[in-house]
Amino acid sequence: MTGTQKIFKRIQKDVGRAIADFGLIEEGDRIAVGISGGKDSYTLLQILEALRKKAPVRFELIAINVDPGFSGYRKDLIAAYLHRQGFRYHMETTRSDEIIEENLRPGTSYCAFCSRLRRGFLYTLAERLECNKIALGHHLDDFIETLLLNQFFSGKLAAMSAKMLADNGKHTVIRPLVYVKEADIVTLSQAMNFPIVHCACPVAGKTDRNRQRMKQLIASLEVDIPNIRHSMINALKNVQPRYLLTGQTEHPVQEK
Ligand code: SF4
Repeated sequence: MTGTQKIFKRIQKDVGRAIADFGLIEEGDRIAVGISGGKDSYTLLQILEALRKKAPVRFELIAINVDPGFSGYRKDLIAAYLHRQGFRYHMETTRSDEIIEENLRPGTSYCAFCSRLRRGFLYTLAERLECNKIALGHHLDDFIETLLLNQFFSGKLAAMSAKMLADNGKHTVIRPLVYVKEADIVTLSQAMNFPIVHCACPVAGKTDRNRQRMKQLIASLEVDIPNIRHSMINALKNVQPRYLLTGQTEHPVQEK
């Protein structure tokens, strides 16, 4: 078995475990797979396709791409790749760039507004294509970094969900890469030569400083705690509300 096959198998196993643990895919699902042109989304699509071919349940995949309209975004490279690989796909062009410029209020994060818009476009597109689920490429490191970001900067204990009803109440959003480490995705992406396309927005690479700090923090702790990433992701499944300050007390409070 080649190195690429080994890493592909490992990721496939992680995704299979997530699908089983969270009931991510069911018979008859028609899944829109969000393809941004980044390593995570290509990995997600390739792994889901490999699983689809041998899965006991029947489900369909449609790759969907939402072009935000930023000049220089090479969606042509994405379309060419999807075509070459034989995937069903749909490319949608939007003018998110203009909507953001016209509607962004002072103090609102450019990225937060852009992400909300993109989510809206994804939901609309999934509905038009009659998909009941939307698969997104967030991986294990995204989950644990978000957990720390929320604790450190927002004072809340929250990360992301592997399976949740979308804000529109109609679609289910799934994140099958929840158990996949980013390092494995980087390795696979290089081995499979994915045509990486950057978003070309005006703030790319400038707004995620805190996320970078979380990455560095986890990497430095990993030297002494090799299992830290798995332990943190497991913690998200092993929540013990009795030992949090959520209003529940260990012993009932006696009223006078
Ligand atoms: S980095 Fe750019 S494309 Fe990505 S969410 Fe932020 S504004 Fe949007």
